[in-house]
Amino acid sequence: MNLIFLGPPGSGKGTQAKMISETLDIKHLSTGDILREAVAAGSELGMKAKVHMDKGDLVPDQYIMGMIEERLQSRVLDDGFVLDGFPRTVAQAEALAMMLARYGKDIDKAILFDVSDEEVIKRLSGRLYCPVCNAGYNYPSRLPKRQGRCDHDGAELRRRPDDEENVVKNRLGVYRKQTEPIIDYYRKQSLLTNVKAEGPIDSIYKELLKVLKENQEA
Ligand code: AMP
Repeated sequence: MNLIFLGPPGSGKGTQAKMISETLDIKHLSTGDILREAVAAGSELGMKAKVHMDKGDLVPDQYIMGMIEERLQSRVLDDGFVLDGFPRTVAQAEALAMMLARYGKDIDKAILFDVSDEEVIKRLSGRLYCPVCNAGYNYPSRLPKRQGRCDHDGAELRRRPDDEENVVKNRLGVYRKQTEPIIDYYRKQSLLTNVKAEGPIDSIYKELLKVLKENQEA
């Protein structure tokens, strides 16, 4: 199954994408994760991307599309995928459609994770991640067993620099202006389904599975 997960920062799409990729045994591709790895590695891409990421702005398309093409070429997306954080503009969505067509692929479903701005701000201000295994935590809804330490490897949990309040505000603005038009783009192609993304992670996941099952049966 080939899926796109859409939603504002903090909508939980990354957490849900990770879960669904394990259940369906498909590739989870997060452009944000790839960029953060590039920044941590200090690569040329990372250094160029960091300037935009630190402000909460989008990284230019030329870098993003290259990352996607590379993965299509290396065939890691052949058994299905869930795209998380990509596409983020209508131009990226159109470029993706053309790229997928070249590889004989298409999108089965675009899922929109619906969540209010208040909830987003609350979640992002409590969000922490493990720099070693990338596991996500949240105060107070998803606490690690030991304060400030990852349950899996004991590493010290960190806060993403772009989760600081002033950057979050810009990321939400960028989402509304540049990313939201994609919702209509997929709606017009009858590919869009909404999932209410407030409440416990497991309930949202159940709803997601239900929606995907309905899609398979349709
Ligand atoms: P995310 O982890 O998806 O919230 O992404 C973190 C940051 O990486 C974003 O605020 C952007 O600066 C950058 N980024 C991630 N994905 C994309 C994309 N598809 N297009 C442009 N910039 C992106």
